[in-house]
Amino acid sequence: MDFEPSEEQGMALDGWRRQVARAVVPIAQEFRDRAFSKEAAHELLQVMADFGVGCGWVPEDGGGVGYDFLTSGLLFEELSRASPDVAGLAWVHEGASLKVYANGSPEIKKRYLPLMTTGKVIGCSAISEPNIGSSVREMRTRAVRDGKYFRISGEKMWTSNATVADIVLVVARTGENEFSMFLVDREEHGFQAAEISKLGLNGWPLAQVVFDDVVVPEENLLGTLGSGMRETMKGFDRSRCFVSTLALGISHSALQDSIEYSKQRSQFGKPIGGHQLVQGLLAEMATDLAASQLLVYRALSMLAKGQRCELEASIAKSFATEAAQRITSKAIQIHGACGIAKEFPLERHFRNARMLTIPDGTTQINQLIIGRKLTGIDAFS
Ligand SMILES: Cc1cc2nc3c(=O)[nH]c(=O)nc-3n(C[C@H](O)[C@H](O)[C@H](O)COP(=O)(O)OP(=O)(O)OC[C@H]3O[C@@H](n4cnc5c(N)ncnc54)[C@H](O)[C@@H]3O)c2cc1C
Repeated sequence: MDFEPSEEQGMALDGWRRQVARAVVPIAQEFRDRAFSKEAAHELLQVMADFGVGCGWVPEDGGGVGYDFLTSGLLFEELSRASPDVAGLAWVHEGASLKVYANGSPEIKKRYLPLMTTGKVIGCSAISEPNIGSSVREMRTRAVRDGKYFRISGEKMWTSNATVADIVLVVARTGENEFSMFLVDREEHGFQAAEISKLGLNGWPLAQVVFDDVVVPEENLLGTLGSGMRETMKGFDRSRCFVSTLALGISHSALQDSIEYSKQRSQFGKPIGGHQLVQGLLAEMATDLAASQLLVYRALSMLAKGQRCELEASIAKSFATEAAQRITSKAIQIHGACGIAKEFPLERHFRNARMLTIPDGTTQINQLIIGRKLTGIDAFS
């Protein structure tokens, strides 16, 4: 066990911190209350590409940086302190790029990966539907073979990045109990995406996507017929770790803001940070954050070694995202009325944290996964 970042990770983090302040924050600040425009999303992915964020998971032979997942997680944690919205945009895109790398035909990889790893083509993954969330195997979107093509029809919901995406990786039913993944190109095959107005993380686009008899060539099948669900499930270990890094970043910001405020604000003749009950709140926040970090790093380091980490990723995700809610709520308490004012960042931290217990398995779904791993008994149905 080693809890210190390596020298290499430290250097990557130093350079990255400067790039985030210089090139990411100015754009992110413009889009705190509205979804990134397509131009802004492309620019963000381009300024992050050299630092391995948005393209870090794709190995070098696919045009990416080939970062291990722990190093990448540290970069995402750092980015999320400044903008969890940008981190959301980047990891969803990065996940789509990795799926193309792992499952695309040589032609598909040659065509899309150089553009994806440089931020010129943006990707997303569409699984959830209006009536299907946690129970993914009940999805209704269908892809029906028509000669050398597939015709895709259905509606997807809550698809991150969809309004700015050039390609969507859609999982559709291709048989009674068979699910497959297809790459659909907005310009070439067409899909409609409509932004959904939401509570927090308002820069990170989230959309409803409609496939109205969209025709895609059979070469756009990613992996094999029937491999779509397996690939989706495999991706969840990774996505649970990375959604947790957003929770870490938000929690860091809320704690830091609270420490500073508690030293500046005086009541009853001394800084509120000098009152024991305020120190108690700070101590609970710091403890929740430290525990979240250790759980997330453990899961990330297993991912980095190529191990499955279903249990560890579910523990990390459910703990870190629930902890972020506790931490951001206490940060509001420490700021008193200023905590709920739009002028201060606390209410935004709180709204942002509230978003994270839902995607990539709600807290309850992750608890069922943990329970199944512990007992060997499936309590899902
Ligand atoms: C910020 C964000 C980003 C997202 N990005 C994407 C994306 O890029 N692509 C994508 O496909 N989807 C995405 N989603 C959708 C997300 O995956 C779903 O919202 C999630 O799977 C939950 O589905 P649901 O919202 O339909 O809730 P439901 O599944 O309807 O659940 C409703 C409630 O019932 C509980 N529940 C359900 N089943 C059980 C059970 N068996 N036992 C106990 N409790 C249960 C849940 O925990 C929850 O509290 C995103 C969502 C958010 C909030």
